[in-house]
Amino acid sequence: MMKNESAYFQPEIETLSVSAIRDLQLKGLREMLQRCMQSEFYRRRFREAGVSPEDIRSLDDLQRLPFTTKEDLRENYPFGLCCVPLQECVRLHSSSGTTGNPTVVLHTRRDLDDWATAVARCLWMVGSRPDDVFQNSAGYGMFTAGLGFQYGAEKVGMLTVPAAAGNTLRQIKFIKDFGTTVLHAIPSYASRIYEVMRQEGVDPVRDTRLRVLCIGAEPHSEEQRRRIEENLHVKAYNSYGISEMMGPGVAFECPEQNGLHIWEDYFIAEIIDPVTLQPVPDGEMGELVITTLKREAMPLVRYRTRDLTRFLPGDCPCGRHHRRLARLQGRSDDMIILKGVNIFPIQIEKILLSFPELGTDYLITLENKESNDTLTVDVELKELFTDDYSKLQSLEREITRRLRDEILVSPCVRIVPKGSLKVSDEKKAVRVKDLRKLY
Ligand code: ADP
Ligand code: ZN
Repeated sequence: MMKNESAYFQPEIETLSVSAIRDLQLKGLREMLQRCMQSEFYRRRFREAGVSPEDIRSLDDLQRLPFTTKEDLRENYPFGLCCVPLQECVRLHSSSGTTGNPTVVLHTRRDLDDWATAVARCLWMVGSRPDDVFQNSAGYGMFTAGLGFQYGAEKVGMLTVPAAAGNTLRQIKFIKDFGTTVLHAIPSYASRIYEVMRQEGVDPVRDTRLRVLCIGAEPHSEEQRRRIEENLHVKAYNSYGISEMMGPGVAFECPEQNGLHIWEDYFIAEIIDPVTLQPVPDGEMGELVITTLKREAMPLVRYRTRDLTRFLPGDCPCGRHHRRLARLQGRSDDMIILKGVNIFPIQIEKILLSFPELGTDYLITLENKESNDTLTVDVELKELFTDDYSKLQSLEREITRRLRDEILVSPCVRIVPKGSLKVSDEKKAVRVKDLRKLY
């Protein structure tokens, strides 16, 4: 096959009408539930919930099915949720373990092919074509963004550069020498690449052909995206992935850059109230719950992602009817509760990045001093724009004021020199240090 025959725009699926999508989902759900019955885990779960696959006659009946959680995966580690004989599985992935023990996800050959198709669809959607050069700066191995993007990009037919994580100088050399046009990077790492380019005198416009950036795997604000776009002179698209669902390819921004289309031929998405576990009214923020439709090896029924988002109302001008998720706010366990107020790190990021004097690295520290909870924000300067101490102080005061308006508690803000916070090159950035539990 000629390379450029591999078109992964799938209009027949992407622009299906809403009612056709719902029909497809109901059919997929019923078939998937039959497959679930192959595992002792789901047989027991459904029995306990007093429901059987035959009871599911409409999408509303989904509500009758029990949730699946990360704890279920951990308790049934490693193969307890497998619904096919193990010899039919050809790959195992495990989550990066950001919040505890890793979880295991299994894939059959068809699962891997479906996954690659989903990623190819996303990459095609944001303008990648077979004549592009695609570089992936995510870690390969267990981290699903490595192999996940790799196979998707190959399916599009691009020349792929599996650079993997770290070694920023080498990363930049590849971008220049191989003429990389499409790059995948975790947002904190995209900023790091830019910093090192500047140190090395590399001009993204003059010295590179970068055009498209896919950024995801960690929460980031609209302000951070805009920074990345301006610095690297690219269009940056938000990519949502979660290894339990497969990895990247679950939901992705289209050229409108306004919400992420979740692929509803692969998944059924719900947004629930994490306390009452009931669906929230349409358009309200809550926890994203996903049911897989295609998965063979490890179907997941109403999996609680712990990620907080909402559905965006209305049609997307791009013509795709798959529902859009708003930018992910972070996990419910990332939420900081301070003096009874709920705060998300990206609320803080949004304010910090609106100051042109500040860089993109910051650290939030929570402490308990004399029975009083405190929140300190250390943030790096972009450049040393002044030695004048009083100017820095007035900048700190202004940041404090804007943060207080946003998060409703008064933080202690400290501006620190560029490069002093040392956000890691390879892993998801750690933005919050909670020392309260230590006292
Ligand atoms: P881990 O749970 O160990 O971090 P994963 O690598 O599967 O394992 O990470 C998936 C999680 O990463 C998601 O549940 C979500 O919290 C976060 N994430 C992924 N993509 C995005 C994104 N585009 N925006 C915000 N958060 C994201
Ligand atoms: Zn769209």
